[in-house]
Amino acid sequence: MRWIIVGVILIAVATLIYRMQVKKKATSRAQRVVQMSAHRKKATKLRNQPCSFCRKKSAKLSYYSDENGSVVGVCQTCKPHAERRALMRL
Ligand SMILES: [Zn+2]
Repeated sequence: MRWIIVGVILIAVATLIYRMQVKKKATSRAQRVVQMSAHRKKATKLRNQPCSFCRKKSAKLSYYSDENGSVVGVCQTCKPHAERRALMRL
């Protein structure tokens, strides 16, 4: 009888832990969706932004990831510059 009670408690705890993990996974997925939409908003905001190198506003910027991992927008004039620095094209 005691073992049945212990077994029931164990199953209840396992179910609880499983449910908590599922919930955690669901929230992290939701956060990722929010982050993605925020990222997209940022990307649209980057349009018509000044070039990271010469500060001239350009409608057509090429985006690169620099050595620090931050995104730089480069105009057509400064594009060879970025390519010479071997920045990763985004
Ligand atoms: Zn430029």
